Amino acid sequence: MANVFTLTATDGSARAGVLRTAHGDVPTPAFMPVGTKATVKAVDPRELRTLGASIVLGNSYHLHFRPGEELVAELGGLHAFMGWDGPILTDSGGFQVFSLRDTMLEADDDGVTFRSVYDGRSERFTPELAARIQELLGSDVAMCLDVCAPPGVPRPELEEAVRRTTVWAHRQRDLPRAPGQLRFAITQGGLDTELRVRSSEELVPLDFDGYAIGGLSVGEERAPMFAATTGAASLLPADKPRYFMGIGDPEGVIEVIARGVDMFDCVLPTRTARTGSALTWEGRLNLRNSRFARDPRPLDEGCACPACTTFTRAYIRHLVNQQEILGLRLLSLHNLRFLLDLVAAARLAIAHGAFESWRADALARLPGPRAENS
Ligand SMILES: [Zn+2]
Repeated sequence: MANVFTLTATDGSARAGVLRTAHGDVPTPAFMPVGTKATVKAVDPRELRTLGASIVLGNSYHLHFRPGEELVAELGGLHAFMGWDGPILTDSGGFQVFSLRDTMLEADDDGVTFRSVYDGRSERFTPELAARIQELLGSDVAMCLDVCAPPGVPRPELEEAVRRTTVWAHRQRDLPRAPGQLRFAITQGGLDTELRVRSSEELVPLDFDGYAIGGLSVGEERAPMFAATTGAASLLPADKPRYFMGIGDPEGVIEVIARGVDMFDCVLPTRTARTGSALTWEGRLNLRNSRFARDPRPLDEGCACPACTTFTRAYIRHLVNQQEILGLRLLSLHNLRFLLDLVAAARLAIAHGAFESWRADALARLPGPRAENS
């Protein structure tokens, strides 16, 4: 397939472009709301579209166990099943398998055995199964099964994760795909510069449709994580999309875009919403706080989401405190819109060659972590 990805503008290391998929174009940088179980929690696909989402993410691990990829395929594939006709990226399940450490039983060069979080039964994922699940789901972008080491592991373990990730990538490259499905490989190596170079040098020649930066944002310190991102992104081909797995806080998103990342995903906006908090230019607002009891303002001045255009902080606080479903839904819609707007603004700034000043402005406006949960 020719020209899966086109760069439309660059500004420093930041990039704007378009990813072409079988279900439509994705303007990048792109934030991908996470629809773990074939739903972005509490949000209707039509609402997602209105909020500005152009691509959503589904989880192979969860969909494999419930309801099962065969059932989804029988009902027309993941797009038809969940009522979203736009682009979908599915992860391989590797992150779930390797991050739920206490459920892992055994890993070898063939695959990984673990206990399912659903019923505790022993299950096995192989690169071939991960590819087959995603073929049946019919996603637009399939991810390779990789080995994601937790932060702070001894170097030999990190090295082994890089080696096995490469072995598995070789096996997945030419496996059957859904029509038009793209396949991305995932680079590993944690914060280790030499291993990140090794991982990229092994995977880039395999000529995947795109490359993910895996094994970061897994609990390590932020400064070294961003430094590793700079290195990892620069090792990837300029003409292919780069996907940073698992970042979704406003500062983090701005920082990875600045380092040449094109796509990213995170449950943070919707998970934060379900804890009763809003992402705003004032920082993260915990609506349970009594200081919002009589606050007539919207969650965020200038936000055009359904929550901010109609409701006050006082009302949403009341809904959250009374555990009314609408409260968590409004916060989910707002948080997604806030992040999608932020990324759209970054894209515009890149197109105008003004990214650096936009970034400085945005970071100055956003309060630091100290102000969170205020
Ligand atoms: Zn809003």
